[in-house]
Amino acid sequence: MTKISIHNQLQLRDLLQEHKIPAFRYGQIENAIYKNFITDFDEIQTIPKDLRNLLKENCFYQSLTVDHEATSSNGQTTKFLFKTTDDLLIEAVLMRHLTGRNTLCISCQAGCPMACSFCATGKLWLQKNLQLHEIIEQVMYAAKLLDSEGSKLRNIVFMGMGEPMLNYEPMKEAISMFCAQKKFDLANRRVTVSTCGIVPGINKFADDFPQTGLAISLHAPNDEIRKSIMPVDHTYNLDTLMTSLDRYTQKTNKRIFYEYIMINGVNDHLKLADELGKLLQWRLAHVNFIPYNPGEGTGGTYAATPRFIIERFQKILEKYGVVSTIRATMGDDINAACGQLARKKKEEEKKQEA
Ligand code: SAH
Repeated sequence: MTKISIHNQLQLRDLLQEHKIPAFRYGQIENAIYKNFITDFDEIQTIPKDLRNLLKENCFYQSLTVDHEATSSNGQTTKFLFKTTDDLLIEAVLMRHLTGRNTLCISCQAGCPMACSFCATGKLWLQKNLQLHEIIEQVMYAAKLLDSEGSKLRNIVFMGMGEPMLNYEPMKEAISMFCAQKKFDLANRRVTVSTCGIVPGINKFADDFPQTGLAISLHAPNDEIRKSIMPVDHTYNLDTLMTSLDRYTQKTNKRIFYEYIMINGVNDHLKLADELGKLLQWRLAHVNFIPYNPGEGTGGTYAATPRFIIERFQKILEKYGVVSTIRATMGDDINAACGQLARKKKEEEKKQEA
């Protein structure tokens, strides 16, 4: 018999019911796992020994193993490289902001099918969709680490490996666990889902999560450039995408975050700043410029746009009344951009095999 994850609440409740365990026991287990960070079922003192044994026989706490963990020299960023039971590598990045606004970036797929030209994860293709417990375990691990530092997790972003809108149901269930008071207890607005622009997913998301944050990896203000770096634009072009985003805004009245990677000579011509301004000027938008991270595994053909050009872009956007920020680069020394560590590791393994 295969064991069930302690994080799979439906299966766990079924198990308890099957064994005629009163429903309140679930709450005690939940409290032990998510509030007291107990990892060993034997140590859950609030439940009877028989129930502890039942959990031991039927459930597991964590399926992921930590393959690698690295903290940046300033101590702010920790990158986790986890291995699934089927030997796939996934990444999560914890960013400790000085204001206590701790943010965890998690993966929803091993690899990614979207094949954006600048992204290391895209070079791995899709290896698999993560299951619910594999998503939750990344968060559990980081939340426990923060707890040991006397701190708390404040924000979760689906900006690690994979395309969340293509693993919709597990993502949906994970978000409801993040926001459940008895579990991770985060406000809905503290969870953000980032997508490269999968329109049916965005439409469903607007209906299911009107309070949760939405980030769009835009990266270009016109189809010509967008198609050249993001194959998804062939399926959902900018017009289709923006129509779906306008529907999202109408339904939710929430500001959308637009991510724009700045790649030298590719999407950073100043006339594109005007195009971007025109595209977003009447929309509820916040642009986040991301200096292209040229770390390992991204192919080596691109370079980052110099900071002063990004600042000029910002000035032009201001003329259109579009708010923007430049993302602080954290964790450059530990290959913290999406997919870089997993790809680096895979290449090292290949070299060893050769
Ligand atoms: N598939 C989702 C979420 C994962 S990517 C999406 O596309 O939004 C998370 C963010 O990291 C995206 O905005 C992506 O474009 C960006 N990213 C990928 N590779 C990068 C690199 N080399 N440098 C900087 N940002 C990168």
